Amino acid sequence: MSRIIAAAAIRGAHQIAKQAEEMLAKAIAAKGETAAVEFPNTGYYIPIIYAMTGRQVKTLADFRPVLDEIHSLLPPQVEKKLWVPYLGHALDAGMATLFAEEIIEGCKYLIGPSPVNDIWLGAADDVILRERGIQFVDGSAPGFAAIVGAAPDTETAVKIARKLQERLLYVFMCSHDHGTSFSQQLAEAGVEMGWETRLVPFGPEIPAAIYALGFAARAAMSFGGVQPGDFRRNLLYNKARIFAFVLAFGKVTDEWYATAAGAINFGFPTIADSDIPQILPTGVCTYEHVVSNVPHETIVEKAIEVRGLKIKITHVPIPVAFSPAFEGERIRKEDMHVEFGGQRTPAFEWLRSRPIDQVEDGKVEVAGPEVDTVKEGGKLPFGLIVEVAGRKMQPDFEPVLERQIHTYLNHAQGLFHMGQRDINWVRISKEAYAKGFRLEHIGKILHAMLHEHFSSILDKVQVKIYTDEKTVKELHGQARKVYEERDARLAGMTDESVDVFYSCTLCQSFAPNHLCIITPQRSGLCGAYSWLDGRAAYEINPAGPNRPIPKGNIVDDRIGQWEKVNQFIYEKSNAAIERMSAYSMIVDPMTSCGCFECISAVLPSTNGIMIAPREFPGETPCGMKFSTLAGTVGGGRQVPGFVGHSKHYIVSPKFISADGGFARIVWMPKVLKDELKGALVKRADELGLGGEAFLAKIADETVATTEEQVAEFVAKAGHPALQMAPMF
Ligand code: SF4
Repeated sequence: MSRIIAAAAIRGAHQIAKQAEEMLAKAIAAKGETAAVEFPNTGYYIPIIYAMTGRQVKTLADFRPVLDEIHSLLPPQVEKKLWVPYLGHALDAGMATLFAEEIIEGCKYLIGPSPVNDIWLGAADDVILRERGIQFVDGSAPGFAAIVGAAPDTETAVKIARKLQERLLYVFMCSHDHGTSFSQQLAEAGVEMGWETRLVPFGPEIPAAIYALGFAARAAMSFGGVQPGDFRRNLLYNKARIFAFVLAFGKVTDEWYATAAGAINFGFPTIADSDIPQILPTGVCTYEHVVSNVPHETIVEKAIEVRGLKIKITHVPIPVAFSPAFEGERIRKEDMHVEFGGQRTPAFEWLRSRPIDQVEDGKVEVAGPEVDTVKEGGKLPFGLIVEVAGRKMQPDFEPVLERQIHTYLNHAQGLFHMGQRDINWVRISKEAYAKGFRLEHIGKILHAMLHEHFSSILDKVQVKIYTDEKTVKELHGQARKVYEERDARLAGMTDESVDVFYSCTLCQSFAPNHLCIITPQRSGLCGAYSWLDGRAAYEINPAGPNRPIPKGNIVDDRIGQWEKVNQFIYEKSNAAIERMSAYSMIVDPMTSCGCFECISAVLPSTNGIMIAPREFPGETPCGMKFSTLAGTVGGGRQVPGFVGHSKHYIVSPKFISADGGFARIVWMPKVLKDELKGALVKRADELGLGGEAFLAKIADETVATTEEQVAEFVAKAGHPALQMAPMF
């Protein structure tokens, strides 16, 4: 606890207590001690006093024991030389301040100046409490910002108020600074204030802050079932349920400090624009208690972060319909305005976490040509970087969140998304384009949906979209390194070393019977989900598409079948698939959706297999291009002799291990050979196949484009597959 803050808060509390005493004496002199005192139309008496002590203040005389309570709470002034750094003293001073401020405001209702005058509204009655308080319970209002003082100018005040409104927060205003107040600044700018607009001017002096805190204390009694006098539960209810904070604009006086200390009791931190000492360690508040010197441009975001407020964006601000109903929508070439990726242009998508101060929540940046610069049916490069920040965010969660891009973009009518990482493919329909859909809307979708579904781990989301080829290629290099690092995290784990595998049913929107079984040695076939990602996804959302599957008894460990895994597959494939082998493409192979990075197919006359990656556009030796193969084998079918899989799986010891494994590879296009060269050589060495020498025995499109040519090539090269047992 800062000595300066504690000393100021305690000083301020003594001053306000003195004012309360004087005000009460004046009121009793003017009206007599039996004069009724109340905040109009409320059954909660003088609410903070009632909520915290259970005292029903009905007359001015009833304030006398409250004054005694205030004095018993007030700690001694802080000695200059001797100081015990004890937060409790400041908190007691804060609570005493709130009681004293209620006495002051209560007396004002009797002897003036009336709290309701000019733009000021004074206490909210119980009708307002019921109407508005329920919003704090049902989530339509996450909380409130209690603004104290005045912004440096009218324009800044309006900007801050608008930002708070956009986040559905109530703005409760009191006090003044440099001859004006935040409310007066809004009034000057013609901003409509009142409970309807959520901009509520309570009063021009600091004691009016008790109307905001009293509202919170009443909400706990009214909606939280907290009994009057149960101060502990009331304060904890507010800390957990009412996401409120104090924004202090201008010179922080001792009285402000004292009132802020009162708010800290509720778990409401103070965020100030001025240079005051900070209280950073957590304790009573969820995170920091006082954060100072915050620039006006970022003060709202900072307050939201410090309070741990989770923003839900109820409406996705895009010009087309948005619903899971559009998930399976395809956009044919003739209906398309523009496309990105899909091996037609360089493209990638990458979600990464950043330090919290480097992410501006809601910011969407588009760098490069917009979609209106291309002719109908055109194409553009596409680099999508989503940056997230959150106190509970972990790097392990990045791939999980990244994979949601696919789902969220497909919810927009007229937007099609396929694939992931750097095999993504996006189309915008002519209709969506005509309705005004532009690249920035992709960012808006991701911002809204990531907040909607992952608010428990992230606080901020910003999106950057690049469409000029040079930048996309440069950034793709960085993204690729990260993809590789993610894949490498699993090194050393084996399928035998774990008791559970993870499912993924994310692709059921396109392939309703498909599910991936993700094991440490076999990633999801899109390449975006490893076993660790499945585990992280389950940790984030236990009801989501990734569930743990205990393996149960072994059915056949050679082909990779387990009792409970088969049961799970049967259930989740809508009873379409009874069994699946993790290690065989011949016996009950895993189903293929449409997202796989590669597809393997048996080439019978070579006694081996070919592997075609998504990015290879040419004919393959099995007589089909990748797209035809995907159409034939994909969609959730189980087709012996064919299997979709990730690139990473190719170098796994479990790669079709029941069918002869890695040594069966007789053909793959050059692009894949080049990309995986290091890993392929290493794997070949591990198997004693001779590293680079084995790679040279694998045909590619430069030497063979038909099965016959592959057979000739491997025969000449002395490929080991020729010596292996037949695949069938
Ligand atoms: S391919 Fe498999 S792992 Fe990847 S998203 Fe689809 S179901 Fe999940």
